[in-house]
Amino acid sequence: MAKLSKENLLLLFTVLGVAIGIGLGYSLRDPNQAWSKRHLSYLRFPGDLFVQMLKMLILPMIMSSIITSLASLDSGTAGRLGIVSMTYYTLTTFSAVFLGIVLVTLIKPGKWTTTNVEDLVGHVKTTPCVATAVDTVIDLMKSCFPENLIEATFRSQKVCLKFFNGTTEIPPEIAMTMSPEQRAQFTEVPEKIVSDGMNILGLVVFSVALGIVIGIIGEDGKPMKNFFKSLEACSMKLIGWVIMYSPIGITFLIAAQIVGMKDPGQELHRLMGYVITVILGLLIHAFVIIPLLCVVLARRNPIKFVGGMAQALLTALATSSSSATLPLSIKCCEENNKVDPRVTRFVLPLGATINMDGTALYEAVAAIYISQCVGNDLNLGEVILVSLTATLASIGAAGIPQAGIVTMIMVLIAIGLPTNLFILIFPVDFMLDRLRTTVNVHGDSIATAVIERLCEDQLQKGGHHHDTNDQGY
Ligand code: ASP
Repeated sequence: MAKLSKENLLLLFTVLGVAIGIGLGYSLRDPNQAWSKRHLSYLRFPGDLFVQMLKMLILPMIMSSIITSLASLDSGTAGRLGIVSMTYYTLTTFSAVFLGIVLVTLIKPGKWTTTNVEDLVGHVKTTPCVATAVDTVIDLMKSCFPENLIEATFRSQKVCLKFFNGTTEIPPEIAMTMSPEQRAQFTEVPEKIVSDGMNILGLVVFSVALGIVIGIIGEDGKPMKNFFKSLEACSMKLIGWVIMYSPIGITFLIAAQIVGMKDPGQELHRLMGYVITVILGLLIHAFVIIPLLCVVLARRNPIKFVGGMAQALLTALATSSSSATLPLSIKCCEENNKVDPRVTRFVLPLGATINMDGTALYEAVAAIYISQCVGNDLNLGEVILVSLTATLASIGAAGIPQAGIVTMIMVLIAIGLPTNLFILIFPVDFMLDRLRTTVNVHGDSIATAVIERLCEDQLQKGGHHHDTNDQGY
């Protein structure tokens, strides 16, 4: 009972943190003079600490949790978990994409305002793009097998956008603030660069392989198994401490975002139809489709389940990162919703990287919206292409802020649109990113309940139950 009230208190503080963050942000916001980057970073500082603490825990947590989960399952159960997870992820992602396509086709937000695309995009020249769907699949498969495991913990290869004028490189957010004339001097270069995000997919694949091997080799694998079990218990304890700090971190992340936000004014008016379509799609997916799956497949009460996940969902909203939220998702699923740790610790790390329903829905809406803006009506074949590439783009997107808008470029390429058109939707992306990240985390968490139920028999007979006392909670 005492534990319950402690959790409720923390949640209450987090909700208060969101409210205070919004209030603080609006009261500090100066419409006449934008804050300098430095001052903004001071305001964000307590929030940055929170995000960094979460990221710090990702490596020990992913490795230890996946390895202990798989090492304690027999190969039949592990295989079934894998197959059921992948099938479920694919189905939910497709349903999100389908919903997005239906909504954007019915609402036609691209026709709401007459947008002079040429004015907005300027005369940015587009170079032949190197990042096609095939490239993305190849990249994705390559990142499953990082050649250097240590490097994979801090670097990944991904497609990024740069603007380049022969001597200077600028990121897209700066390009957005330029006049069309200034921007015309730059060439947009989408290319593969080494980014400083973690290659989580690579770490997941390695941990899955190591976990299976430890389970297979028996006696010889025992010391490793014990080591990771102990690391897992320590990581969970550390996460517990970081969670205590979350209300403060969330407050300042939100406040800094509001203070630094450019007045969307006219842009918001121009993008209203698009914003409404994305939000409507996310709401239907989060409040109708996913809860329905929760009731029908997992036979659980979705309202209670979501209540248990509140801390993680609010963190997703504040950080715009499924990966940073991962430690909290695991903790909430297991402690508040009592999902089997063997399931959560396999399904959630994988889901945070490849199962992004919110991102998939947004990718499809964004690409079709842009094509509507430029008066390019898509035929059925192109719509099918959008659905396939949007799914792929969501799988390829890393669980970091605004990764989705970069992979969306691939969808534009698939339907033959210039890649620089992504600029049309850039001004509101920071806001939609928060919402789609929350839906991504929501989808992943319900997935644990569904997969647990679908693998119930196997888990009961096939796996040796985790001794919860070993987990440190
Ligand atoms: N920020 C999202 C996430 O972390 C990815 C995206 O940009 O859609 O889940």
